[in-house]
Amino acid sequence: MFTSIAGRGVVVTGGTRGIGKGIARVFAGAGARVLIVGRDAEAAGAAAAELSGGGAEVSWVLADVSRREDCAAMAATAAERLGGIDVLCANAGIFPAAPLAEMTDENIDEVLGTNLKGTILSVQACLGALAASGHGRVILTSSITGPVTGFPGWAHYGASKAGQLGFLRTAAIELAANGITVNAVLPGNIVTEGLDELGQEYQAQMAASIPLRRLGTAEEIGYAALFLATDEAAYITGQTIVVDGGQVLPESLAALDG
Ligand code: NAP
Repeated sequence: MFTSIAGRGVVVTGGTRGIGKGIARVFAGAGARVLIVGRDAEAAGAAAAELSGGGAEVSWVLADVSRREDCAAMAATAAERLGGIDVLCANAGIFPAAPLAEMTDENIDEVLGTNLKGTILSVQACLGALAASGHGRVILTSSITGPVTGFPGWAHYGASKAGQLGFLRTAAIELAANGITVNAVLPGNIVTEGLDELGQEYQAQMAASIPLRRLGTAEEIGYAALFLATDEAAYITGQTIVVDGGQVLPESLAALDG
């Protein structure tokens, strides 16, 4: 069995819905003290109430990760409320589609500002507390899109997700001196509230291109993150784990026949 992480302080940016909520649920279930972060108070409050069921300690704070001062306030709240930060799950991200030929400065700045700059600012803000914990863990939510695959409309998004991995390799070296590890989970197609709205037929179509023939759950990303946060994963840094049901494996559709 893994050493318990009960009582550790965990910050999950974008933890108010989707994958981040799944990550928060898994950490809360393991007994961690969790702070979820988003920009919408109503969604954050509802998610914290839901995740707190059964006695788990989950609270929320509002922050826009693309803003340095918000990240500083987030880290200060976490340090005060959780008694420190042992784990930062830098998960907040957006994926508005825009064809490359029509992509505006605003489109590019919004996606890179949240997904890439937001990741860097979140990590920077939590550095002192992570170092003080003595076993700090940073876990990024990247994606298969960008680092491994492409998808029309997501050139800026793919660049932001691949950019996170460029960031993590140098961050892992710099932060090793403080005993902090930096790793990333690369989800494939994961069922979230947004995808749910697109209906069963859409999901079935997507599942057909995945060897395991189903989409992933937010909690399955959470369990990969939980592993990277354990004491037993202390010697893993600068690495990535693809969690995609084998989606990136087929060379062609023929590989999925039969
Ligand atoms: P989602 O359901 O739309 O949730 C996004 C979360 O991020 C929400 O909590 C949102 O809250 C928060 N957020 C967005 N912009 C923010 C900002 N500027 N500051 C603070 N919080 C912000 O998205 P998701 O599908 O769970 O995606 C989460 C992460 O997984 C993203 O990094 C995404 O790239 C990655 N991912 C998702 C999939 C997938 O299949 N779903 C696949 C690969 C990778 P507010 O809107 O209230 O701020």
